[in-house]
Amino acid sequence: NEGLGSWPARRARKTPDTAALVHEERSLSYRDLLDRVSRLARALRGLGIRPGDRVAYLGPNHPSFLETLFATGMLGGVFVPLNTRLTAPEIAYQLDDSGAAVLVHGAAHTALADEVGAPVRVGPDAYEDLLAGADPDPLDVPVALDDPCMIMYTSGTTGRPKGATLTHGNITWNAVNVLIDHDLAADEVALVSAPLFHTAGLNMLTLPVLLKGGTCVLVAAFDPAATLGLIERHRVTFMFGVPTMFQRVAREPGWDAADLSSLRILTCGGAPVPTSLIEVYQRRGLTFLQGYGMTEAAPGTLFLDAAHAVSKAGSAGVPHFFTDVRVVDAAMADVAPGETGEVVVRGPHVMRGYWGRPEETAAAFTDGWFRTGDAARVDADGYAYIVDRIKDVIITGGENVYPAEVEDAILADPDVLECAVIGVPDDAWGEVGRAVVVARPGSGLAPERVLAGLSGRLARYKIPKSAVLAPAIPRNAAGKILKARLRDDYGKP
Ligand code: AMP
Ligand code: MG
Repeated sequence: NEGLGSWPARRARKTPDTAALVHEERSLSYRDLLDRVSRLARALRGLGIRPGDRVAYLGPNHPSFLETLFATGMLGGVFVPLNTRLTAPEIAYQLDDSGAAVLVHGAAHTALADEVGAPVRVGPDAYEDLLAGADPDPLDVPVALDDPCMIMYTSGTTGRPKGATLTHGNITWNAVNVLIDHDLAADEVALVSAPLFHTAGLNMLTLPVLLKGGTCVLVAAFDPAATLGLIERHRVTFMFGVPTMFQRVAREPGWDAADLSSLRILTCGGAPVPTSLIEVYQRRGLTFLQGYGMTEAAPGTLFLDAAHAVSKAGSAGVPHFFTDVRVVDAAMADVAPGETGEVVVRGPHVMRGYWGRPEETAAAFTDGWFRTGDAARVDADGYAYIVDRIKDVIITGGENVYPAEVEDAILADPDVLECAVIGVPDDAWGEVGRAVVVARPGSGLAPERVLAGLSGRLARYKIPKSAVLAPAIPRNAAGKILKARLRDDYGKP
């Protein structure tokens, strides 16, 4: 077995007594992990799971998530992590689309698991019973690096979610990229408060640490106040989060007094890191590593090291070691430095395709390059700056307007809680921008004031022609803005 299912045995051979997983008061060594994974693999086989079959997991961060992932890999099956923020119909869709035969779920998800009607449901009690009744002898099933390891549904800001099929090799190569660029040590202690069902929490943080033989402290729900206590108690060395997570931790009353001396690696991803946030952490002697990636690339793609955090602020960095990235025009020709084009990526960590969707897969690649749909420009040193999603670009009078830039400018107004800029059809200009704004309650913010505040700060053509107030901005379960829905609701000329 070349795949992830062999990792617990390989680690138990080298570091059996090191803590692999810590959760609340419980700690599992690599030897314990191998024992539980081996029992679960046999139990899953007893439930009828055969090589290639799918096993889904629904629940917050917990050791059973990783045990199910490794056990499924040990018997040659395919793991399907489900997002706990999805509704019952959305979960039912992903179970059906992936053809999952078994659903393992956490304690809080029993009612939901019953509602979605998965074929075989394994809750926490049944799970422990299965383990207790199974033989701990590891299964030996041939699994190759090219075999599928997991199906991760992409957040789907457009259309139905698609299952990115990631092979054991994809996950392994991504972990190698992470080890190289983060310089992980064998005694790393990672705080895993980002959800494991997202590619970042699982593939950028947890799996590389387990490959290297470190310890992962699993936290069911991110809580900024508790985070400081966990860092001190476990002497955490490595954290991963989106910028808002780090922002909330730094705003905690306990921030100034907290002992952060154990922290060594802080990785921020999913969105550009504001310079003000970089400065707050630098005052504590901490510098962010920054990353850009996507589910389909398992996910690490661009990476900004600590040495360039300030000099290249706003950049997503340069490609990981085993990653090739280009920024191209519609004809797949490289654009000149400073020009905006689409990010395309190639490498041993990039998926082969979407589960059961040959047409969408074919459309996602050109000449072997995965089309990210993200717009970026590259500076003269080769550092990439992510500009926005290509599909969301507004073309007004022949000028391209990237909504993210306009949204940033609007969000500078303290009376604006949330905002999204969309294009609406226009006879004269083809398309014009419209700002959809959520006002701070009681602020009395008028739409005209939002627009007036932009003059002199943005080029005239970038300033939306109209603004509307909305009660909320629709987002998907991953927190990304649903621009297509906004265009339906607010995009009439
Ligand atoms: P997902 O489809 O959920 O894997 O999210 C991937 C998308 O998140 C990318 O295609 C980008 O649009 C966005 N993204 C990820 N990292 C960054 C970053 N560092 N800066 C800007 N956008 C990002
Ligand atoms: Mg995507």
